[in-house]
Amino acid sequence: MIPYARQSISHRDVYAVVKSLRNDFLTTGPLVEKFENELESVVGAPTVVVSSGTAALHAAYSAIELQPGDEIIASPMTFIATHATAALFGAKIVFADINRKTGNIDPANVEALINHRTKAVVGVDYAGQPIELDELKRITEKNNIYLVEDAAHSLGSKYKEKSVGSVADITTFSFFATKNITSGEGGAVASNNPNLLDRARFFSRQGMVRNSNDFKLTDQGAWHQEVHEFGLNYRLPDILCALGISQLQKLDQFKTKRNTIRENYLQALKDVNGIEFLEKDGTSDPVWHLFPIFVPKESRSQIFDDLAKWGIKAQVNYIPSYWHPVFQDLGYKRGLCPNAEDFYQRELSLPFYVDLTRRKQQEIIKAIKSLASNL
Ligand SMILES: *Cc1c(COP(=O)(O)O)cnc(C)c1O
Repeated sequence: MIPYARQSISHRDVYAVVKSLRNDFLTTGPLVEKFENELESVVGAPTVVVSSGTAALHAAYSAIELQPGDEIIASPMTFIATHATAALFGAKIVFADINRKTGNIDPANVEALINHRTKAVVGVDYAGQPIELDELKRITEKNNIYLVEDAAHSLGSKYKEKSVGSVADITTFSFFATKNITSGEGGAVASNNPNLLDRARFFSRQGMVRNSNDFKLTDQGAWHQEVHEFGLNYRLPDILCALGISQLQKLDQFKTKRNTIRENYLQALKDVNGIEFLEKDGTSDPVWHLFPIFVPKESRSQIFDDLAKWGIKAQVNYIPSYWHPVFQDLGYKRGLCPNAEDFYQRELSLPFYVDLTRRKQQEIIKAIKSLASNL
């Protein structure tokens, strides 16, 4: 079976991880800071590494002090973690529909949903293509609210020459196995706002205050450390940072390979009747994370099953978040975001990963062409 996504691990990655096992620290050692610094040079803002993309989102919402009664305006075209981590703070998720062509949150829909309870706008860089950062930033600045960017798909992507991570108030990344680079599990928070980044760091390090200048208890000994706000253990261990650092060195190479596969797919499939593609907006320079195609609604499920018979595992990204029973139970209704629903009902993500061979690409293209002849 050709998987829809897969990590690319080299001998050098293996060596880096094995070597780290002999270091003095398995968890928080020197590789954590090294990974954070190297990420900073890619994303254009200081970073805190954490144990997953979900942890990064949770820490980001903690950083902006999300509270019960607050609202966030978010795209439904994402993985549930984007919303789950906000809901766990008691926030209400208000869904803004997407731009049907890119899968990204539509700024025009965002503006109409802002009210005095809105704390943040949360965009997701679908398939690696950055959200409309300038327009979203204009809206959030005007309303004095935060712009949060879930960049789980888009490490290394650029928006008008600027790195994803350097523009939104706070940006989160994932290093899960299928993402642009991997540390096994892992993630990061990036922000050019030192206060937000500090808060994200405290939250992901048990809220522990270690600097004696900041202590509220001043009658304790030299061993002392104290907690001012609750946090969790979201640390990324040195072992995984070793893999992350090694992978990050290959990001440019990964980008080129992903681009080449995308070009090959587009060339081969562009004239196939009944198939449409995600639109690239002119201002972005993405590291492509997914290769979505759009087929007629009535045929999507059949094509998915038929591809499996050809030995090809496609994927669907994503069911609109509010279709999940957890949101239905809260009273969210289907029909809320028609663009997202249409997008979901027609979408298929073809296998797309760095080590997908030319030969396998040809197999996939052949299968799609054959299945499309019935459309
Ligand atoms: C993968 C992903 C996450 C969650 O990241 P994990 O590292 O798996 O916790 C969040 N949002 C989006 C859009 C993702 O694709």
